[in-house]
Amino acid sequence: MSPVIPIRAGSGCSDAPVRRERGQREVFCGLTGIIWLHRKIQDAFFLVVGSRTCAHLIQSAAGVMIFAEPRFATAILDERDLAGLADAQDELDRVVTRLLQRRPEIRLLFLVGSCPSEVIKLDLARAAQRLSAQFSPAVRVLNYSGSGIETTFTQGEDACLAALVPQLAAASDDAPALMVVGALADVVEDQFARLFAELGIGSVSFLPARRAARMPAISAGTRFLLAQPFLADTARALEARGARRLAAPFPLGAEGTTAWLRAAADAFGVSAARFERVTAPGRERAARALARHRLLLGGKRIFFFPDSQLEIPLARFLSRELQVELVEVGTPYLHRQHLAEELALLPEGTALSEGQHLEQQLDRCRAARPDLVVCGLGLANPLEAEGLTTKWSIELVFTPVQGYEQAGDLAELFTRPLLRREKLVA
Ligand code: SF4
Repeated sequence: MSPVIPIRAGSGCSDAPVRRERGQREVFCGLTGIIWLHRKIQDAFFLVVGSRTCAHLIQSAAGVMIFAEPRFATAILDERDLAGLADAQDELDRVVTRLLQRRPEIRLLFLVGSCPSEVIKLDLARAAQRLSAQFSPAVRVLNYSGSGIETTFTQGEDACLAALVPQLAAASDDAPALMVVGALADVVEDQFARLFAELGIGSVSFLPARRAARMPAISAGTRFLLAQPFLADTARALEARGARRLAAPFPLGAEGTTAWLRAAADAFGVSAARFERVTAPGRERAARALARHRLLLGGKRIFFFPDSQLEIPLARFLSRELQVELVEVGTPYLHRQHLAEELALLPEGTALSEGQHLEQQLDRCRAARPDLVVCGLGLANPLEAEGLTTKWSIELVFTPVQGYEQAGDLAELFTRPLLRREKLVA
């Protein structure tokens, strides 16, 4: 029998039991985050220090998205490095020097650790310090780990942003300022920036910024809103620098977006009337966009395998705004503090699980025969072959889905596989 952890007293699933599982896992590693992070920070470069496997993972995940010379690469550790016969630090210095000579536009270089670099205990923090001293102020060199051992693929972003936090400049005073934390598509970021401006919240910044030189400053007056639910280490690092998190659900769907914006509005003293006036048009557009998807999704049964850490906010959106029935909501990690507002909004009695025991989850999923399964790439094909309809969870991270204007697109990510299945059956 799985141990059960209480969450906290309250409504919805706040104090619901959670099935904890430990067993075989089926997830991508944190290197995957490079795919969206390199597009977000436009003068950064991600150098994975890893094996050919790591290079293949990045290439195949990014394959269809490369439209210019990529801003990521893998420095391959060969047998001599792995056997300790070569000085990997010297080799890394040579690779970085060549790279920076060839790509003078790079302003921020991340050395990204992997399983092989961790196995041989290659000290990338030391390398980053040494190289930063050599190449600053033109280039800052930071490091983080994207290693796949005991991680989820979204943790790569958390580790990357957490590495940025100590580098953020101290603001000149402690004046209240809002920081939105988590990589958002530029179009989504622009929409939120406009909404905050209309609400009258003057000082707003985004982490990560689009350029290395424009990373936000931080002070004890900084109030931050997480835009993604998988940023536990980043939040901790921000709090260590005096910033305070604004508790809110995540900006998925009309309801989540409204509650997320309201958390900022309340913290910055925006009047209820102004909030209503500014958010009403977006809420109405989102409601219209969602109505047609509800026709197809209403009453459908969905099963989430743990993969992206977005599962609980997505389940809340699907159940409350599209009337989808939640068969099971699995998440790799349940951060009870960051997800408290989400859990409170989930329907009572939702089956929640944390961690992964693949075989047992597959058994439960097969027995339930849900209409739609949200899972990692590795599980999708076998489940499709068994006649189940699947959605790749990774698509939900690659696609702009936050905010009012994207609520319909988010719903469509779930209707599309159902329509495809209907066509196949017909
Ligand atoms: S970091 Fe580890 S899990 Fe990720 S691709 Fe490299 S070897 Fe595989």
